[in-house]
Amino acid sequence: AGMVMLGKANMDEFAMGSSNETSFYGAVTNPWDTSRIPGGSSGGSAAAVAARLAPIATGTDTGGSIRQPASLCGITGLKPTYGRVSRYGMIAFASSLDQGGPMAATAEDCAMLLQTMAGHDPQDSTCSQQPVPDYESTLNAPLKGKRIGLPKEYFAKELDSEIGDAVQAVANQLESMGATLHEVSLPSTSIAPAVYYVLAPAECSSNLSRYDGVRFGHRCDNPKNLIDLYERSRNEGFGDEVKRRILTGTYVLSSGYYDAYYNKALRIKQHITHEFLSIFEDIDCLLTPTTPTTAFGIGEKIHDPIAMYLSDIYTVAVNLAGLPALSMPAGFDQQGLPIGAQLIAAPWKEGTLLNVAHQYQQNTNAHQQLPALATQPA
Ligand code: GLN
Repeated sequence: AGMVMLGKANMDEFAMGSSNETSFYGAVTNPWDTSRIPGGSSGGSAAAVAARLAPIATGTDTGGSIRQPASLCGITGLKPTYGRVSRYGMIAFASSLDQGGPMAATAEDCAMLLQTMAGHDPQDSTCSQQPVPDYESTLNAPLKGKRIGLPKEYFAKELDSEIGDAVQAVANQLESMGATLHEVSLPSTSIAPAVYYVLAPAECSSNLSRYDGVRFGHRCDNPKNLIDLYERSRNEGFGDEVKRRILTGTYVLSSGYYDAYYNKALRIKQHITHEFLSIFEDIDCLLTPTTPTTAFGIGEKIHDPIAMYLSDIYTVAVNLAGLPALSMPAGFDQQGLPIGAQLIAAPWKEGTLLNVAHQYQQNTNAHQQLPALATQPA
């Protein structure tokens, strides 16, 4: 669309990570506190926009990698409906979940970027023919009568109370602008990470099997024979987290465990999708926290994969169900770290998310706060 590409931003290796610490290049730091992680995997994009090094950026979201770093860096990020944006040119991680989307300071900027990104592309067979609405023209629709659902499982014990309060304050603000609030229930919320961390590794183990040192990626020096080429290229090229995923994924797909893990996870994925779709029969959008805590310290979780995976509790179900969801700034905790609120809508309802977020941003100022080290506008 004529924009100038400023550069490529850092990310976790093959987009596997929630902190940027599994990047080959080392972690980007959070502009609000450089001892903390920016989130991941699209942490570089989020940090760059938060520090105003760039007005907008793109990211991919397989289990939260647009929304979680957007939340932790205090910007707005949108994961579109599965199939809304072409994935041509992206390296596949988990093909049934991957989706690209916009990251920006505001919902309005996300709307403009999504407008140019969305739409059919014959180069990606999963990309939908569904017409692309004019997102900007619906930004200013009044919120009167919009039905906002608050799923009670997203406000349970693992949630930091300051985040719970901030999201409740967003709900109250939306109510004061004419929306109505409704408590709803998504009972399968707590099992979503377990399902995700079976399916995403299964798909990645298959997708990454093409990295054999022959055509793509790293190739080892002086292989003795074909098996040596495969083994050493993969062993030298992949980082520890990527190897962990390949091992897990190969295990759940192996003949003795396929039904017990992979097939069972697929069935629960269907169930989670139905839970969401039945709620959207009379709710326009859901409001939840994006993350259970604000940005954690560099080094704090990297040696505990389960703790790292559980930090994705509020984002992964959306990908399992293929839904659009947006994270927007919702204030700060007592340490001055950004808090994110997540909006989730039915398939193809990106316009609803952008409308609600834009109306919120027109009446509040969390999205205008800048970290001290941000580049000031000229
Ligand atoms: N944190 C999740 C993971 O590590 C999501 C990553 C992503 O969305 N790319 O799998």
